[in-house]
Amino acid sequence: MEHEEAATHDSEEQADELVIRVSGAALPDGEQERETILQDLGRQVGRILSENHGIHADSVTGDVGPQYTQIGDGCPVCGHSCVELRDYTYTGNGATASAFCPECEWAGTAIYRLIDYEAHRSEDDWRSAVASDRNSAHYHGY
Ligand SMILES: [Zn+2]
Repeated sequence: MEHEEAATHDSEEQADELVIRVSGAALPDGEQERETILQDLGRQVGRILSENHGIHADSVTGDVGPQYTQIGDGCPVCGHSCVELRDYTYTGNGATASAFCPECEWAGTAIYRLIDYEAHRSEDDWRSAVASDRNSAHYHGY
């Protein structure tokens, strides 16, 4: 589902991201029916934001099922790919590493939170515990 608005953001302006999570809904099994629901939701959310609140979103997207979050290895300042990570430390349900950009010399910390177990039956056969409903993904805000 994709909802495009003719809005432009000042490149210096920090855009917020809005997440809406729906649980306890019995959805149809058909992929096309689910896609129709997502498109309808996207249009309605975009319309409500625009008409009722004057907020113009670049896009409104949705998916069905648990979502994984992953960030790229690009520098958050200059975008250079392959930020160097070193000095890994494992803490509780996650890990941290020192992050350094060789291009602009930005330095920071990479924080990983582990949310999934995978069962391996062979080299090419792995099964996500979250995707197979054997474990629940948890979502936490900052
Ligand atoms: Zn950089």
